[in-house]
Amino acid sequence: MKTTIIRGGTLVVGQSILQQDLLIKGEKIAAIGELSKLKPDEIIDASDLLVLPGGVDTHVHFNDVFMNTISVHDYYSGTLAAAHGGTTTVIDFSNQAPGATLMSTLEAKYAEASGNALIDWGVHPVITQPTDATLAEIPKVVAAGAPTIKCYMIYREEGLLIEEPDLRRILAGLRDAGGMLLVHAEDNDMAEAGIARHIEEGLTDTKYHSTSKPATVENRAIERAIQMVREVGGRLFVVHLSSGEGIKMVGAARGEGLDVLAETCTHYLVLTDEMLQREDGFKWTCSPPLRDLANQRQLWRGVQDGRLVQVTSDDAAYSWEATQYGKDRFDLCPNGMPGVEPRFHLLYSQGVAYGQISLPRFVDLVATNPARIFGMYPQKGVLLPGSDADIVLFDPEAQWTMGQQNSHSCNDWHAYEGVEVTGKIRKVFSRGELIINGEDCLAQKGRGRYVHRKLNRM
Ligand SMILES: [Zn+2]
Repeated sequence: MKTTIIRGGTLVVGQSILQQDLLIKGEKIAAIGELSKLKPDEIIDASDLLVLPGGVDTHVHFNDVFMNTISVHDYYSGTLAAAHGGTTTVIDFSNQAPGATLMSTLEAKYAEASGNALIDWGVHPVITQPTDATLAEIPKVVAAGAPTIKCYMIYREEGLLIEEPDLRRILAGLRDAGGMLLVHAEDNDMAEAGIARHIEEGLTDTKYHSTSKPATVENRAIERAIQMVREVGGRLFVVHLSSGEGIKMVGAARGEGLDVLAETCTHYLVLTDEMLQREDGFKWTCSPPLRDLANQRQLWRGVQDGRLVQVTSDDAAYSWEATQYGKDRFDLCPNGMPGVEPRFHLLYSQGVAYGQISLPRFVDLVATNPARIFGMYPQKGVLLPGSDADIVLFDPEAQWTMGQQNSHSCNDWHAYEGVEVTGKIRKVFSRGELIINGEDCLAQKGRGRYVHRKLNRM
């Protein structure tokens, strides 16, 4: 087995920051400490670099068919962008097709990933047909390593909405099977009414995307979801939370002893609804919509104090051409933006370099908590002997400008064009293999493996 020592770097392990060597043996981290006496096959000098666990992004949409288009990131191009962005594990969503079984959502992703994925990957099945047969399959997908199922509380027209009585049955099924329910929390009826009202009044510009679905739409859904947990039990995870009020509700639910967690996404921490005022504002159409600065400040508070446990990308890359569907009609714009590559850099830059979060907190948000909460710890998300050697070597001093010219995404526009960034990824290892070296990707297509996940009791 090949041995490599990463020498003299600054490691983040849990809440500790250590100046130590790290030994990689085969696919695993073998030791951390003062290892200068060892004679490995290779030594990589990491003095002046941070040595961090590879990013874990549990919220990406690859090959996602949505709003008359399909996301441009597939398992090759999406994992290529992820790897360049310091992410070594992704979890993708797989929507149950009409008439299809829940297990087929996993099989579909095996087929998409095989021969393509550059990094390790997992799946969240998405229930769209809450029949008795589907519910009976919940224990099967949990046992198959996909214990986290997402449901939408919105998107009736798109065939994704799960009504509340069904949502309760799914929550109970997951509770009994040792799984967790993920919800896209926006209240369908409030959103439908808000959008219809705007269109009727001729208010169709992009900026009305956010006024048609204000934070109250999200808050109402979060409130309903928490109430379900209060009555049914089980474990709830609110994806892409964007409202300050929502954070308070999640914090209060935890205070009550309910098993409720929430994440936010990069774009809510970095961008505000001012972007939607621009002529090309339709590019930043996502759901929930970008919020104002007051909400953004609350989100930063949430990631600081732990009420928000992780930051994901919600990568949903739609081509420039597809975003044009929303140019004059906000409600027709495919909701989502590319983000799997920028996430790690932006959270470090705007979080750690701007003094908003500590370095260990950054590691928690970008890698450790997603691995822990989604059933991959300590295999993923941490630098410990025995863990997969998924490692990022990071230069904390580098200054650069993010944009399309240095992007590794196949998408034809960038959501963070011109954003100044502090810190740069120099090398990325996945299971001991150097996959990113500067600007070069060395990974073989299809080397990525399915991660079989199992949730721990919290
Ligand atoms: Zn999403």
